[in-house]
Amino acid sequence: MKSRIHYTKPSITELEVRYATDAAANGWGEKCYEYINRFEEAFKDHLDVKYAIATSSCTGALHMGMAALGIGPGDEVIMADINWIATASPIVHLGAKPVFVDILPDSWCLDPKLVEEAITPNTKAIVAVHLYGNLCEMDKLLAIGEKHSIPVIEDAAEAIGSIYHGKRAGSMGKFGAFSFHGTKTLTTGEGGIFVTNDAVLYEHVLTLSNHGRARGQTKQFWPDMVGFKYKMSNIQAAIGCAQIERADELTRRKREILSYYRSRLEIFSGLSMNPEPVDTVNGAWMPTIVFDQQTGVTREELQNTFAEENIDARVFFHPLSSLPMFEGKIYTPVSSDIPARAINLPSFHDISKTEQDRVVNVIESILND
Ligand SMILES: *Cc1c(COP(=O)(O)O)cnc(C)c1O
Repeated sequence: MKSRIHYTKPSITELEVRYATDAAANGWGEKCYEYINRFEEAFKDHLDVKYAIATSSCTGALHMGMAALGIGPGDEVIMADINWIATASPIVHLGAKPVFVDILPDSWCLDPKLVEEAITPNTKAIVAVHLYGNLCEMDKLLAIGEKHSIPVIEDAAEAIGSIYHGKRAGSMGKFGAFSFHGTKTLTTGEGGIFVTNDAVLYEHVLTLSNHGRARGQTKQFWPDMVGFKYKMSNIQAAIGCAQIERADELTRRKREILSYYRSRLEIFSGLSMNPEPVDTVNGAWMPTIVFDQQTGVTREELQNTFAEENIDARVFFHPLSSLPMFEGKIYTPVSSDIPARAINLPSFHDISKTEQDRVVNVIESILND
């Protein structure tokens, strides 16, 4: 049996180990927030935003941000049908309704035209998810948001390193949320962060994140509202401090992996990969190929062939509207079609050219089948 090629695996160096060890040994008592504060500062610098709150997950960051925007029962939140469920669950937990719209065939992200058509008097927010590092058309989405006075939220969980017209993904919307789950480019094991440039929203989320205790509250153990508990631990933040120091290296490597796949695969017709339109940088979290319809390639065939070669290939996200809890009468032809002929390729930091070549050979064999 050939050795297994994993699809993701974090890059942990001596630096992460050193910081985590220090946090475990010394990061208590008055030092218990040191790495958390340092991580938030470093992340703000990286993204060029004013405020950041480290969280236990991206889902938690989204949940608190959406709660602070007042999203609740009867409200609708527009998002792409192709997505990880984590973007939709906070909406459901708040009693609101996720409204799924179709994606663009080239970026696999929200179609702005359909977003505008989906707006109703109940629409409370639009969530732009930068899928696999591919960027949403933020100019158009922000203009639509502005025109209808609806905030645009960025779920940038997959988009560290992605840059749109000079601005980093996650820094353009009313607020942004990132994930540091072990599969993501930058990891703390589990973890996330809430970022914004809005001082009022920041204060509100800060209070929510501290079990409803406002910063200026002098009475001890006195919550001012019912809040949440989605905090990142100091030990996780220590790992994050090392990773954020390496952020450029980590995304440079992701881009290198994507570009090697691209250079090997561009000779074949019938394939498309993560796009990188002018004046954007794709952080390349997940190199992905979509086979043209004419190739007749199916998801099942892809999964089986990769499994035979002992290579982890991850299925493209299912349309959320196809899941039992969201099943409805919506029509999203692009979202229903693309996942059935697409696959995410292995792209962990230390993947070798030989391993990437093995992946390419599988794709070649499928195309020649
Ligand atoms: C990974 C991911 C999330 C969830 O992140 P967690 O940290 O696991 O909560 C949310 N949205 C998208 C688009 C993701 O890829």
